[in-house]
Amino acid sequence: MIRPVIDVRDITKVYGDGDTRVRALDGVTLQVERGDYVAVMGPSGSGKSTLMNILGCLDVPTTGACLLDGVDVSSLSDEQLALARNRLIGFVFQAFNLIPRTSAVANVELPLAYSGTRAAERRRRAMFALDLVGLADRADHEPHQLSGGQQQRVAIARALVTEPALLLADEPTGNLDSHAGEEVLAVLDDLNAAGHTIVLITHEEEIGARADRLIRLFDGRVASDSRREPRGRHAASGVLS
Ligand code: ADP
Ligand code: MG
Repeated sequence: MIRPVIDVRDITKVYGDGDTRVRALDGVTLQVERGDYVAVMGPSGSGKSTLMNILGCLDVPTTGACLLDGVDVSSLSDEQLALARNRLIGFVFQAFNLIPRTSAVANVELPLAYSGTRAAERRRRAMFALDLVGLADRADHEPHQLSGGQQQRVAIARALVTEPALLLADEPTGNLDSHAGEEVLAVLDDLNAAGHTIVLITHEEEIGARADRLIRLFDGRVASDSRREPRGRHAASGVLS
């Protein structure tokens, strides 16, 4: 069997102790296969950010096992965790977090700057990633010369340039109007169709219904986990299976 990108088994996350003890995750088990497109929804305080931090190697669970691309992250040192994060995860945030007065292609190259990749190779890979999000012709534009949707697409290219096993997006359309949001979601659809594995947090039902799989968290537990027909993404009905 091909190993899943994410294999989380009965994880808990407890913050604080004594009276201030909070069980943010309370026995979460889930697997995400390569090529999956998963939306995570849930009310405020249900554990979404805690789960994303663990899936993104920003934090480790209190108990339970978390394997990312076969690597058990609970056993890693902080330094090893940072390496796993750089190798495995591409992050996309609500705020695009691009470097101002710096060209799109230079922004996309940034994650490669510390990996010893040569300048020409960095440029080639950054241009390839920009092409994936349809912005090769905007490579020399600085963030302020780009629309919000284009800036988020540059941020997606930056997340992809290291060829991560998983694209992790936290409310990627949260700062965008509906038109720009649609532009970004269309890019995510295309990337997923090309085989990229995507997990995104959203509070918008419309976006949750668009993913191939919808996981709802409630009180630190998986309340539901439903998958749609793979080809139905663009269908108007969007019936959950
Ligand atoms: P969501 O992202 O769904 O709003 P969170 O994962 O941020 O939920 O939080 C889940 C629970 O854990 C909440 O009760 C929250 O108050 C608590 N929590 C989150 N982070 C911390 C922290 N660093 N210290 C203490 N409690 C926290
Ligand atoms: Mg949150």
